[in-house]
Amino acid sequence: MRPTRYELRLEPDLTTLTFAGEQTVTLEVAEPTSQIVLNAVELTIDEATITNARGDSRRGAPLADEPAERCRLTFPSTIEPGTWRLRLAFRGTLNDKLRGFYRSSYKDPNGEVRLMAATQFEATDARRAFPCWDEPDFKAVFAVTLVIDPKLTAVSNTAVVGERVEGGRKIVAFADSMKMSTYLVAFVVGELEATDPVLVGKAPVRVWCVPGKRRLAAFGHEIAVASLRFFEDYYGLPYPGDKLDLLAIPDFAAGAMENLGAITFRETALLVDERAASHSELERVADVVAHENAHMWFGDLVTMTWWNGIWLNEAFATFMEMLAVDAWKPEWQRWTTFGVSRAAALAVDGLHSTRPIEFHVEAPRDADAMFDVLTYEKGASVLRMLEQHLGPAVFRDGVREYLRRHAYANAD
Ligand SMILES: [Zn+2]
Repeated sequence: MRPTRYELRLEPDLTTLTFAGEQTVTLEVAEPTSQIVLNAVELTIDEATITNARGDSRRGAPLADEPAERCRLTFPSTIEPGTWRLRLAFRGTLNDKLRGFYRSSYKDPNGEVRLMAATQFEATDARRAFPCWDEPDFKAVFAVTLVIDPKLTAVSNTAVVGERVEGGRKIVAFADSMKMSTYLVAFVVGELEATDPVLVGKAPVRVWCVPGKRRLAAFGHEIAVASLRFFEDYYGLPYPGDKLDLLAIPDFAAGAMENLGAITFRETALLVDERAASHSELERVADVVAHENAHMWFGDLVTMTWWNGIWLNEAFATFMEMLAVDAWKPEWQRWTTFGVSRAAALAVDGLHSTRPIEFHVEAPRDADAMFDVLTYEKGASVLRMLEQHLGPAVFRDGVREYLRRHAYANAD
C-alpha cells in the first residue's frame, strides 16, 4: 500500500492550543486487506472512511497503539487492490515539545507574551500533526489548506493559491507540493513579517520573522539568494520549489530544518545585526542558510531511502554549505576554518565508541542519534577529500548525475 497524495486541512487554534484536521489520502492498494496501519501519535481519530472510484465506501474502526506510534484502521470488508481515497477526521494539541505541530512563544516589543504555531517533523514527528506514512521513502504530493484567525499569516511549503474569509476564519490554500517525503512538510501560523521577495529563477525568496525584527533579516536574505543561485548553477538543476521562505521561529529545537520551500530556523541562525555581530555570528548565519538551501536538492529532491543513509543528506549539505559560502565570501577562507570542524570529527572518530558514517538504524528513535559530528563533519571531510582527489569538475558531474537519476525519489 502506498500513499500518493494527501489533501490536508488543518485548523490550529492559538487560544485553546488545539487543532482539528481533515485529510483525504489517495492510496494505491497492492494486495487485498481489511486493515490499514499508519503512523499517528497523540492524535484522536474521530472518523475514517475509505472510498474507491466506483463509490464503494466503508467505515473503518480506528485503534491507537501509542507505544508503537501507530493507528490501525479495521474495515468490515476487504479492500481490493486499486486506488482508494481514505478520509480521516482527527484532533490534536499544539504541544510545547518543539516537535510535531507545536506552539512557540515570544515577547512582542511591548513585553506581551505572544504565541505562534510551527512544525518540526524530521525524523518521525509528522505523525504528531496528521496520521501518515512518514518513512522517508513514502514520497507523495501534499496539498495543504490552513484555516486560521484572519489576523494571522500562514506559510507552508508552496505558494498560496487561494485565500478567503468564511465564518470568521481565514482559509489559506497552498499549491500542490512536488512529490516529497512526509518529514519535509511544514506549516507556520502567527503574526509574521516578511522582507520584499528577491527572484531566483522563477522563485521568490523571502525571510520571515515576528514583528519588529525585519531589520535583522538582510544578511540572511543576501546569503539565501546568493547560495540558491550558486546551487542552481553547481547542480545544473533549477530549484525544485515554487517559492522559498526562510522563517525565524522564536522557539526551535535544532539550528534549522530544510522543509521544502519553508525552511525554519532558530532566530540566531537566520537573523543578525550586521553592524554589531562578530565574525563568527555572521559565519554561523551564512553556514546554516547555505546548508539548508543545499538540502533543497540533497534531501528534498533526492532523499535517503532509510535513516541509515542520513549522511547522503547531511554530509553533502555540509560540504555544499562550505562550497557556497567560500564562493560568496572567498576572503573568509571557509575551507581553512573548516579544519576546526574536521579536527572535532577526528577527535570523536578516534574513540573506541566511534561508528562508520553510514550506520544501521532500526527503530525510528535511533534515527535521532545519527545527527552527529560523524554524519556531518566527518562525512563532509570525506567528501572534500574525494572532491580534491577526483578534481572539482569530475566530482560536480558525479553530483549532477546522482541528482538527475534519483530526482523525486530515494537513493541508498
Ligand atoms: Zn542538514
